[in-house]
Amino acid sequence: MPRVARELEGVALIRMRKGIFKWNNMNAVGSNLHCLVTLRCTLHIGKAAEITRIKKPMESIKTRGLVLKEYEAGESDKRLLLLCKEHGRMMIYARGARKPKSKFMASAQLFTYSDFVLTAGRGFHALAQAQVIESFYGLRTDYDALTAAHLVVEVCEKTLLEDTQCDELLLLALKALGYLNKQKLPPLQVASVFFIRFFAYYGLAPETQGCTVCGEIADTEMYISAEGLICRIHKPGYGIRLSQAGVYALRHILGRELTGAFLFNARDDVIKELWETSQMLWRCHFDWKLKTTEFI
Ligand SMILES: [Zn+2]
Repeated sequence: MPRVARELEGVALIRMRKGIFKWNNMNAVGSNLHCLVTLRCTLHIGKAAEITRIKKPMESIKTRGLVLKEYEAGESDKRLLLLCKEHGRMMIYARGARKPKSKFMASAQLFTYSDFVLTAGRGFHALAQAQVIESFYGLRTDYDALTAAHLVVEVCEKTLLEDTQCDELLLLALKALGYLNKQKLPPLQVASVFFIRFFAYYGLAPETQGCTVCGEIADTEMYISAEGLICRIHKPGYGIRLSQAGVYALRHILGRELTGAFLFNARDDVIKELWETSQMLWRCHFDWKLKTTEFI
């Protein structure tokens, strides 16, 4: 089943088994969520839709990027999966990065955010220069923070698009890693905010003002579904019970600018509600599991 990965100005970016495709014909079906659901149902049957792979000619570039994943390659090299400013997801080759005296030693580490100069190779970019901006070293000293950080990069790695700007999501990931690195907020709170804002970024934020069925604004006994808050009369089978504090926290996360969205004080049980909400949203919108959630 194809999934809508992102909708931009009438163009849908759609994740299918064989990669990410751009569907130019979004205006024909409109652009609200209801139509996106229709799109999911129809696209895999008919190939009538105008589907094209996005491909740009390769050129040397300067960019800033976050290392989402590192792979060993050759005797002393690495392949790095980056989330780059303006370029989105990129796989690059870092020659000699595993040598102890390599100039890429620091910048070719997981979670590191650096300035990069990349030269165009045969079918890939190779690392030519790198300067670390932030290593998020503190993540390595706390198991829960490290697990949440792995979750952040796994979400980016599995959902982001090549050759497509994802700067807002890069900023969201950097904010989350920054708060995890400082270790002043509970890691589960940071991870929950990251997920909920991630869905807001894709236009899939739940409605939080009142019951999505009847519109009633009641804060005493509310449930949350993928569409939004639901009163006790209309609660669906898969809805999660939210306390009043949980409702307020959810409104805070979705209503504030990015930095403020992470900053609030909540009891552990409220953070747990937010975490369960974030995972319910994941199950409703994606049909694969994140490996890292098993360790949370
Ligand atoms: Zn209702």
